[in-house]
Amino acid sequence: MNQSWEPLATGVYRCRLAFLDVTVGMVLGRDGAVLIDSGTTLDEARGIDADVRTFDDRGVSHLVLTHDHFDHVLGSAVFVDAGVYAMTAVAETMAHRTDYLRTHALGYGAAPADIDAVIAAIRLPQHLVERALIDLGDRTVELVHPGVGHTDHDLVVRVPGLRDTDPTVLFCGDLVEESADPAVGDDSDPAQWVTTMERLLALGGADGVYVPGHGAVVDADFVRRQQQWLREL
Ligand SMILES: [Zn+2]
Repeated sequence: MNQSWEPLATGVYRCRLAFLDVTVGMVLGRDGAVLIDSGTTLDEARGIDADVRTFDDRGVSHLVLTHDHFDHVLGSAVFVDAGVYAMTAVAETMAHRTDYLRTHALGYGAAPADIDAVIAAIRLPQHLVERALIDLGDRTVELVHPGVGHTDHDLVVRVPGLRDTDPTVLFCGDLVEESADPAVGDDSDPAQWVTTMERLLALGGADGVYVPGHGAVVDADFVRRQQQWLREL
């Protein structure tokens, strides 16, 4: 195994990549495996691909990209058999703004050769959605754009439990961060983010497991505190 996969519920895992502590999520179902975000480099993504195949030898069937930041999307180049889901803005960035992806990646300390290689192999999302249900046979995975926040195109992934004892798991992308304060950039809207957090809490519920884009898994109370932090910004 290349990564350490933390179990969150039946058939639901996530790992934390060494580079920037990015979360990659995995949901296993009878008919396929959903991956949430893809890492930054070809090597990182190849390692994830190999790991998923130890859980399900068919590999990743569906890949969801939560938003257009380089550390979440560039590894998608590796998952050539997966249907890739994202909002339109992600596809536009990957098609027309690779200079922006490259600049940000280098700014965060990625190796230029790694970034050039992964951009040369870039693979665009084919399924441009604001909302979608992925049917895995014995379970469904729900993709929702809860509103503007970290970017104007954040997509979260809601995974209802397979068994009664399983919590609902909500992969939040960078709408929630645990390892640092939420990243408020030029493409963020803190005021609307507060409202979006309310929708996040409705999606995950009081007993939900909230998986941040970076850092440890948190609960609804933590999300509430982060909402307050944004309100005071
Ligand atoms: Zn981000």
